[in-house]
Amino acid sequence: MREPEYDFLIVGAGLYGAVFAHEAHKKGKKCLVIDKREHLGGNTYCEDVDGINIHKYGAHIFHTNDKFIWDYVNSFVPFNRYTNSPLANYKGELYNLPFNMNTFRQLWGISTPDEAKAIIAEQTKEYKDKIPSNLEEQALSLVGKDIYEKLIKGYTEKQWGRKATELPAFIIKRLPLRFTYDNNYFNDDHQGIPVGGYNKLTEGLLEGIECRTNVDFFKDRKKLESLAKQVVFTGKIDEYFDYRHGKLEYRSLHFEHTTLDQDNYQGNAVVNYTEASIPYTRIIEHKHFEFGKQKASVITKEYPLEASSDNEPYYPINDAKNTDLFNTYKKMAEQETTTIFGGRLAEYRYYDMHQVIGAALAKTRKLLP
Ligand code: FAD
Ligand code: UDP
Repeated sequence: MREPEYDFLIVGAGLYGAVFAHEAHKKGKKCLVIDKREHLGGNTYCEDVDGINIHKYGAHIFHTNDKFIWDYVNSFVPFNRYTNSPLANYKGELYNLPFNMNTFRQLWGISTPDEAKAIIAEQTKEYKDKIPSNLEEQALSLVGKDIYEKLIKGYTEKQWGRKATELPAFIIKRLPLRFTYDNNYFNDDHQGIPVGGYNKLTEGLLEGIECRTNVDFFKDRKKLESLAKQVVFTGKIDEYFDYRHGKLEYRSLHFEHTTLDQDNYQGNAVVNYTEASIPYTRIIEHKHFEFGKQKASVITKEYPLEASSDNEPYYPINDAKNTDLFNTYKKMAEQETTTIFGGRLAEYRYYDMHQVIGAALAKTRKLLP
């Protein structure tokens, strides 16, 4: 039998696939990257509209504490100084995020950390000795009723399509709580947006590597598999196994993009709408990620919905039921000797970009020392 033409067939040109391909290519391995979408870059893909980079799959802000990963991405494209400091709009009132002294001042009219701590201590006292078993309990025990009801409950329940009492506590632990006047959404040492957009990062990673778009692995699986010695699969793990044990659930988003004949719509890149009765979770004004001075502006409303065969799976729902099902597929994946599973969909993990890059680098280091 003839030797396969490629060392690796990489299914998915998102960050996991692109980093894996880059590292394997550097080690002299021959890679073929395929993606079923018409473009490369996965969910970080940007589209140029009137000179503004539109984050087609939702706002992407790069942040990391890992200097190595920061230097790694900056070696392909310099990153700007953008700092994410979203606002929350609750019934027309604006609050700073994450929860910090500015938020507490806007909520309670106080000005010192001691005053804020006293109010939060009072509102969280009944949860003090309890271990939170779900997102609602976690939020109430961390920040108390006022913040939970105005800034968390509505947003969370529409984002996830489930009651906060049915969601895992870890989702909310991502958000910082601090007693300084600091609106930086992340605690990480490094943060920014690639100058010229995320496509520059993808282009840098995939330079010199054969890539084919509009190719769905499942439409021609046997033939595609025969092309390479190993497959790196970054699509949905349940789909890889033909949904044999059932479907994993994901949340999806519908993005409504609008070009406006005005230069500045909301004065900030991200404004969250935290009340339940507004169907979208946030409005993104893309130009502010890169301090754009264009005459026009493009905004995007994000409407959350359940993932189905008609839309894209974005967020894994890591509740108990789905975690059990994922573990079944994970065991099956461990038996697949010629396929490597990686990334948000194949590992069914709420990964951020720096984590996906870290995972792909770790995998290539182990596999191709
Ligand atoms: P993806 O980017 O999803 O790439 C997977 C690719 O595989 C896709 O291009 C898909 O088309 C392709 N594929 C799937 N199945 C097949 C198939 N059968 N055949 C061929 N191709 C296939 N992270 C941050 O760090 N900061 C943020 O601010 C941030 N914001 C986010 C906002 C939203 C709305 C979302 C959804 C995610 C956000 N993330 C953010 C997370 C970030 O998008 C991911 O960590 C990262 O993009 C995951 O990379 P990946 O390669 O695992 O997956
Ligand atoms: N969240 C919230 N209110 C907000 C922003 C976030 O309750 O104004 C909760 C919500 O449950 C969300 C989680 O915190 O899913 C994580 O927020 P993050 O901004 O990290 O979400 P992502 O950008 O990943 O969608």
